[in-house]
Amino acid sequence: MKLKIEGKKKVIEINGEKFGNGHKGIIAGPCAIESEKQLVETARVLKKNNIKIMRASAYKPRTNPYAFQGMEEEGLEMLARVGKKVGIATETEITDTRQVEKASEMIDVLRVGARNMQNYELLKELSKIENPVILKNGLASTIDEFLMAGEYLARKGKENIIFCWRGIRTFEKEVRYSMDALAPHIIKQKTRFPVIVDPSHAAGKKENVLPLSRAMLAGGADGLIIETHPNPEKALSDNRQQIPLKEFQKFLKKIDLIHK
Ligand code: PEP
Ligand code: MN
Repeated sequence: MKLKIEGKKKVIEINGEKFGNGHKGIIAGPCAIESEKQLVETARVLKKNNIKIMRASAYKPRTNPYAFQGMEEEGLEMLARVGKKVGIATETEITDTRQVEKASEMIDVLRVGARNMQNYELLKELSKIENPVILKNGLASTIDEFLMAGEYLARKGKENIIFCWRGIRTFEKEVRYSMDALAPHIIKQKTRFPVIVDPSHAAGKKENVLPLSRAMLAGGADGLIIETHPNPEKALSDNRQQIPLKEFQKFLKKIDLIHK
């Protein structure tokens, strides 16, 4: 098993941001790509705050097929353009093997979302690319199933994999997904790859993202992926959980103690 190789914990470095073995990195940006203006505005604020990787999704696997499905290829091109223009690395979700070639040429980091953790054909394709890949756990997956999915990425020798714990579906309605504070600690005992968390989708409400971030970093998470948007009320997806850009600096300051 590639993931379980003993020895030093891996440090993954992306555009100067480090994850793992004591380094806690941050990725931030909007849930979805909506316009070039939205991306430029976000990228500039992130850059000002020393964030080196911007997330933004072009493919949105939505529960409701009539909800906004993302800007798809046009969105990928937009994200790549803005990343270059502003000087920030880019991160996006891909949902299908047919997107791998183009996305891996244009975008720095590719993400496998919760709904595709067990899309093994997608994982096999991604195991061949050079870009770092972030793998999120499935909505109802166990830690072992999550690790085995990661093994699909790692088994031929891929070294730049980051696990992202995003919580699981439970009966609790106060949160969107339940995020076990022990999860990163447990996963890190079973793999040498970094384990970050996504408190935005788990909390589901912007006011709860900060306490969850602090708790997870204190519990050993190697970093965060955070949703932020210039105008969350008008966002085309996940409008309750995205931190308004103008509050993002304050958010960063408040996690700083634990982040360092
Ligand atoms: C996301 O990060 O944009 C997302 C859709 O999250 P998840 O795949 O964890 O539901
Ligand atoms: Mn989202």
